[in-house]
Amino acid sequence: MSVLWQNWARSVRAHPRRVLHPASTPEVVEAVRAARAEGLPVKAYGAGHSFTPIAATEGVLLRLDRMDAVLGVERGTPGGGAGPRAANGAARVRVQAGISLHALNPRLLALGLALPNLGDVDPQSVAGAVSTGTHGTGHRLHGISATVVGVQLVTADGDVVEIDEQHPWFGASRVTLGALGIVTEVTLQCVPAFLLHAREEPMALPEVLDRLPELVEENDHFEFYWFPHTEKALVKRNNRVPEGSERAPVGRVRHLVDDELLSNGLFEVANRVGRRVPSLVPRINHLSGSALSAREYVDHSHEVFVSPRRVRFRESEFAMPRAALPEVIASLQRWFGAGHETVSFPIEVRFTAADDVWMSTGHERDNCYVAVHQYHRLDPTTYFAAAQDVFTAHEGRPHWGKMHTLGADYLSGRYARFDDFVAIRDELDPHRVFSNPYLERVLG
Ligand SMILES: Cc1cc2nc3c(=O)[nH]c(=O)nc-3n(C[C@H](O)[C@H](O)[C@H](O)COP(=O)(O)OP(=O)(O)OC[C@H]3O[C@@H](n4cnc5c(N)ncnc54)[C@H](O)[C@@H]3O)c2cc1C
Repeated sequence: MSVLWQNWARSVRAHPRRVLHPASTPEVVEAVRAARAEGLPVKAYGAGHSFTPIAATEGVLLRLDRMDAVLGVERGTPGGGAGPRAANGAARVRVQAGISLHALNPRLLALGLALPNLGDVDPQSVAGAVSTGTHGTGHRLHGISATVVGVQLVTADGDVVEIDEQHPWFGASRVTLGALGIVTEVTLQCVPAFLLHAREEPMALPEVLDRLPELVEENDHFEFYWFPHTEKALVKRNNRVPEGSERAPVGRVRHLVDDELLSNGLFEVANRVGRRVPSLVPRINHLSGSALSAREYVDHSHEVFVSPRRVRFRESEFAMPRAALPEVIASLQRWFGAGHETVSFPIEVRFTAADDVWMSTGHERDNCYVAVHQYHRLDPTTYFAAAQDVFTAHEGRPHWGKMHTLGADYLSGRYARFDDFVAIRDELDPHRVFSNPYLERVLG
């Protein structure tokens, strides 16, 4: 007997022999030992929000959704990759690895804390987000994995290992791709809770590119969405407000119109129409690029970072040196101009600072990220392959959880510590208990 497992994007299906929901580290140990005794591989998954088959297994699948507790708070510990603004009031928070970001963010707020940066959705588990290098935007900031200062790992032998910043495996233990073992607890370096002032407005793409250094460097968190087949873009600038500022959240009606109707409800309709009549897509994109008008609001950081995403899609995203961005955009414009395909999903562009996490896309490099999306009812293969060719021409590093077709031969050249990571994996998991075809491809 097996069960059907599929990811959020419906791009991956697997038939694990069983899915278990352990409630404690000893139960994870037991599950790993039992699977090994049967010769079955083991994987854990969080919210299935990876677009790649990175979490898939035909063996034993663990879901740590019952391991969702905040275990402890240690105050007065700035540093640990929390960014230059980690100051007094920072704290380290120990959590069980299965807690979702959606559950964690309000728990942190209640403690007067926050993660310094987030991506644009929150259903992911902490372990899943950390394991693939999930990131947001901020030219001085890092991805979530850089906030990790401690990991508890259950190894293939069923040993429970505590990895702190002094441990020789520390550099490998944050972005693990799920290849080293089952992560059961994580310590996160958090910063004091903060409010963000959000400013979102349409801007012509040439203006965005002309003003790029200023837009990136003068904002704590800058990103833009470019509507393919047009010169329209939507820019988002999020900045910390001075202490003592008040919240001024988006009004309920505006939220319903912008975030639910335009960004989700009508966007789904636009995608369905575009799928049936592709020639309409450029006009639809013009309309989409004009429909969202400027708005400003002030809210808790996680409320600003995170948006509802109800239209299902597939995604590929690469990190590249920031200087490559104008040429990357120009190459994509040429591809769209040649009329290969029409694409209604905007292209998302973000920025992060170099970090020291061995398998992070941000390892020792200030990056721009360019993400291409396609509606889930359309085949993304041709579009994503063309985009990948553009990205790899600029030393692109694919997001581990987003679609790409690259293997260890290419990836080993992109990461200075690739061989060190693989050596630790060989030591920890010589019999490949935690492997699957995706990991065999990307790690060799
Ligand atoms: C709508 C949407 C929006 C997204 N937005 C962003 C974004 O803004 N920025 C960004 O960087 N990414 C983004 N992503 C990608 C997403 O953040 C990552 O793919 C993330 O890994 C998903 O987390 P998850 O909990 O669903 O993990 P899964 O996809 O379930 O698993 C990911 C990996 O983590 C491993 N894993 C999970 N739990 C454990 C554990 N306890 N121990 C060991 N390994 C474990 C799995 O085996 C697998 O290798 C988005 C994805 C979607 C679908």
